[in-house]
Amino acid sequence: MGPSIFSPTAGTISVEMNNGEENEMLIPKNVVVATGSKPRTLPGLEVDGAYVMTSEEALNMESLPESILIVGGGVIGIEWASMLADFGVEVTVVEYTKRILPTEDEEISKEMTRLLKKKGVKIATNAKVLADTLKKDNGIEIIVEKEDGTKTYHAEKLLVSVGREANITNIGLENTDIVTEKGYIETNGFYQTKESHIYAIGDVIGGLQLAHVASHEGITAVDHLAGQNPEKIDYNNVPTCIYSNPEVSSIGLTEEKAKEKGYDVKIGKMSFKAIGKALIFGESDGFVKIIADKETDDLLGVHMIGPHVTDMISEAGLAQVLDATPWEIAESIHPHPTLSEVIGEAALAVDGKQIHG
Ligand SMILES: Cc1cc2nc3c(=O)[nH]c(=O)nc-3n(C[C@H](O)[C@H](O)[C@H](O)COP(=O)(O)OP(=O)(O)OC[C@H]3O[C@@H](n4cnc5c(N)ncnc54)[C@H](O)[C@@H]3O)c2cc1C
Repeated sequence: MGPSIFSPTAGTISVEMNNGEENEMLIPKNVVVATGSKPRTLPGLEVDGAYVMTSEEALNMESLPESILIVGGGVIGIEWASMLADFGVEVTVVEYTKRILPTEDEEISKEMTRLLKKKGVKIATNAKVLADTLKKDNGIEIIVEKEDGTKTYHAEKLLVSVGREANITNIGLENTDIVTEKGYIETNGFYQTKESHIYAIGDVIGGLQLAHVASHEGITAVDHLAGQNPEKIDYNNVPTCIYSNPEVSSIGLTEEKAKEKGYDVKIGKMSFKAIGKALIFGESDGFVKIIADKETDDLLGVHMIGPHVTDMISEAGLAQVLDATPWEIAESIHPHPTLSEVIGEAALAVDGKQIHG
């Protein structure tokens, strides 16, 4: 199927087929726009099929390069860096901000930096690739501007992972009253656009660009248009996961954000080195960090780096939804030996009552 677009005739959708079938004109009562996003590139670093890739081309690589320069140390860049380094590729990450995974808690970024460096990944932060210096000849050469001067990098391939942009062009938005803001479709809390019968969900509206977020937004939008009076999504309760090795997961506020919001925080941290199951697995790098409000005991954020943490974040998610305190998390008995014991111990550590570690 080709692009389905809002056609110039008010209230209609044209479905253009690209398989020779006839185009179709629909007159729907409601529409949910979920056209997703595409990788952003930088001027001068356009995909060329040979040397410069985004994650889309990288997924279609038929053989591993010997070396790769990854521009952007966000979630996608770090997932690729970790995986390719494990495959034996020489990896360099260049990140514009002061740390990789800049939206994660700072201690998580630090631990990930340490663990990636341990597996040989080179990381340059506060560093900007000068796209117009890119040379391609049997590999790439590019100059990177850093705080202490410029440095020339060489690699077989270059992966651009600098974020994603919404698919809002060529879908006929100009034939509607839909409003966009900074490249994303604007909606209210029930995902209605300025044309209230047209909804938009997922990557095309920006925010947390995650599959489970898109899916929940879709359910909320459909419940709303069906008159079911759904709850609005609380984005503070959305878990995020990074599939690097080790994994990262988090929910709620980082320590920095909590302090910015004026909370007086108390923090519990527990290393996987204190957890028997992690030692059995031989994967004891990482920790769990729980941030709570000193005044009310409210849970503010949970941040994890370590083995299988993407499978364990849902306990923190449930705790957030049920407004549990760290004490209540610790009161829930964590079976032994499990990796989940680290959460119980980190919760105890919030009040200095941890048993291990
Ligand atoms: C490399 C990578 C790794 C990721 N890993 C994770 C992860 O581990 N966990 C996670 O939660 N999220 C992950 N994400 C993000 C996740 O894929 C997106 O957030 C999610 O797919 C968004 O869903 P969506 O429905 O908004 O858009 P999409 O899943 O992108 O779906 C949009 C669809 O609309 C189609 N379309 C676009 N325009 C038109 C048109 N005009 N007519 C008809 N069809 C059209 C597209 O072809 C596409 O099939 C990852 C993304 C990338 C790029």
